[in-house]
Amino acid sequence: MINNKLKLAIQKNGRLTEETVSFLRSSGLEFESYQQRLFSTCRNFPLEIVYVRDDDISDYVESGAVDLGVVGQNLINEIRPNVKKLLNLRYGFCSLSLAVPKESTIKSVKELENKTIATSYPSSTEYFFKKQNIKVNIIKIKGSVEITPILGIASAIVDLVSTGSTLALNDLRIIEKLYDSEAVLLANPLSLKNEKKTKIIDKLLIRFKGVLSAKNYKYVMMNAPIQILPKIKKAIPGLKSPTISPLANPGWISIQSVIKEDVFWQTIEKLKKLGASDILVLPVEKLII
Ligand code: ATP
Ligand code: ZN
Repeated sequence: MINNKLKLAIQKNGRLTEETVSFLRSSGLEFESYQQRLFSTCRNFPLEIVYVRDDDISDYVESGAVDLGVVGQNLINEIRPNVKKLLNLRYGFCSLSLAVPKESTIKSVKELENKTIATSYPSSTEYFFKKQNIKVNIIKIKGSVEITPILGIASAIVDLVSTGSTLALNDLRIIEKLYDSEAVLLANPLSLKNEKKTKIIDKLLIRFKGVLSAKNYKYVMMNAPIQILPKIKKAIPGLKSPTISPLANPGWISIQSVIKEDVFWQTIEKLKKLGASDILVLPVEKLII
């Protein structure tokens, strides 16, 4: 730990970079970051951010070259490094999927028996087929796996997809999903045993969790006649109970509460029906429960 600072490795230039940098910034970390940088020092937190290729991050975390890292869960499933997963970060969503050319007659996994599968995820692929007792020939390709069926090298591919548009573009059709993935925060097991480091990691985790829980909530303010208050209280599944304040208009109150994203629209519809008006919805920046 140089200068008593914790080290966090993130992807230098790729699909996870922008969202990771913005996640760190929304956690209140202040640092410079631009394309050619190798590392950044946080101005307001004892943390160094190191920019590397995503494939190297789990090795660096495992060896203790860095204390923490952000990578896709897919790499952890594939590499199975000796690291500790601390958090799911709720971005970088994608899935590892098995696909065949659109015009292929193959419709099920079983029909791939003795066929060749191209992938950058050989371990995940091997595990998937072994579990189902299907013998296949797996070839490892580093980039542009989608091209292999067109070149006649493989009958199917196993690759990461998020929207499926790359597959459609290359005339491929998904037949099965191996697993879902998202960005995760990893830690070196020894760093978690070091008292000084865990103190800083715990502080960082409080910030990260605050940002993550805020994403699941909305702050709502509304006006309502006082007599419907009991019904409104029942309708809002808020954190605790809503905050109530009187309005200048006699018989009316203002109600403030926090609503969970997944029941948000049902709750708003209920409140409107009950007689609430001037409903104002705000995003929650951080939520420390
Ligand atoms: P690097 O140059 O760092 O090795 P890379 O080309 O291997 O980068 P990216 O394509 O930038 O990696 O993907 C980084 C991570 O982004 C993936 O490991 C995965 O977790 C996530 N991801 C999200 N959506 C997708 C997608 N559609 N395709 C591939 N990866 C995705
Ligand atoms: Zn990579």
